Amino acid sequence: MSGEGVLSGGLQGPPAELLLRDVHVLDPRAGIDRRLDVSVREGAIAELGEPGTISAQDAGEAIDGDGRLRLLPAFFDPHVHLRTPGQEHKEDLDSGTRAAAAGGYCGVIAMPNTDPVLDSAPLLRSLRDAAARDARIPVGFLAAVTRGLQGEQLTEMAELRQEGALGFSDDGEPVASAGVLRKALQYQRLCGGVLALHEEDPSLSRRGVMNEGTVSAALGLDGIPTVAESTMVARDAELAGYEGARVHFQHLSCAASAETVAAAKARGWHVSAEVTPHHLLLTDEAVRGMDTSMKMHPPLTAEGDRAALVQALRDGTIDCVATDHAPHAREEKEVPFEQAPMGTTGLETAFAALYSGLVLPGTLELGVLVQRMTAGASLFGLKEATIAPGRPAELVLVDLEEPWTAGEHGWQSRSENCCFAGRRLQGRIRLTLAAGRLVHRDRALAPAAA
Ligand SMILES: [Zn+2]
Ligand SMILES: [Zn+2]
Repeated sequence: MSGEGVLSGGLQGPPAELLLRDVHVLDPRAGIDRRLDVSVREGAIAELGEPGTISAQDAGEAIDGDGRLRLLPAFFDPHVHLRTPGQEHKEDLDSGTRAAAAGGYCGVIAMPNTDPVLDSAPLLRSLRDAAARDARIPVGFLAAVTRGLQGEQLTEMAELRQEGALGFSDDGEPVASAGVLRKALQYQRLCGGVLALHEEDPSLSRRGVMNEGTVSAALGLDGIPTVAESTMVARDAELAGYEGARVHFQHLSCAASAETVAAAKARGWHVSAEVTPHHLLLTDEAVRGMDTSMKMHPPLTAEGDRAALVQALRDGTIDCVATDHAPHAREEKEVPFEQAPMGTTGLETAFAALYSGLVLPGTLELGVLVQRMTAGASLFGLKEATIAPGRPAELVLVDLEEPWTAGEHGWQSRSENCCFAGRRLQGRIRLTLAAGRLVHRDRALAPAAA
């Protein structure tokens, strides 16, 4: 992934000098799946060679993979909430990107539902300056589609694009009016970027706090029907097709939405879609205990929907995984279920949760998971990480064997509302390189002598 000009930050440390000796390199895009030595010089991938052929004295620190540790292209998350400006008690540019680095990410895209809302060029400029200073890995920004996320007046989309917005989203809220969205699609076609859509018909979701179904009925909680999402996905796919515009559907949560995306792609419309680890791995059964870390937006759905999302990710109908990392302070979540804010953190657990929940049982190939966790970059016009000489070092070294408990050593994120907290997982991130810098090193991997 590289996107100089539109990504900010990640240039804090010195460029990495590193030899990764006898690591099992898996890069589906480059067609590599074997043991190699990989050297990194001045922050770029310098050389790939047979194990034992690149000598340590040529590079800085040497790390031994024993043919066992996997080296993957680092991940990209097109949907995170860094809560800056305005809600830094939940997360900030430093803590959020430290969490991303710990999760193996070399780039993220931050949502604009901040306080104030990111809906003007001057605010985008100052936020990009702040990210250049504080972010541990490169960050891209989406600006709001409508002013103040009010769903009425469009932002100055062309000006925001010039200032470096990768696209637009009112995430947290839908663009409820078809007429307003149509106008946004027309501007999108003119000024480029991607319109990323949080799909929800507010007249259907109303005051719902969880998925509408047998569990909500048993608990006596107001439900959100899946049609609140799927009818809007259908409406907006058709509008995008009609206008020839480019849209990206955020955090799909049900089978019907995935079916619509498949049909839209078959018609040649410019649509893409993402799904979160929690919608791939959990169902509304997890809400029975009224644990507020299981309260998300869109809500966890039923098993049939979950299975359909996994299938859609596997066959490529859904293009990529996005965490929708949504930090909330402990006191905000420690309230009755109905009153708690929606959202879960996800950056630090995404890979391990998906590896443990989908790859280990044989549901998804590791190579497909890696592809889907890196593909978000190209959807937003950025280069995906690739393990090839001359490319910037955007690498993640993982141990697929050692079990660990999510959250056992605390979190890099400022918030701890993670739906996978306390779970026994496999697939631990040992080392992350982003923008050619070493941005995360696991405590188990003590610095070795050069
Ligand atoms: Zn959303
Ligand atoms: Zn979101």
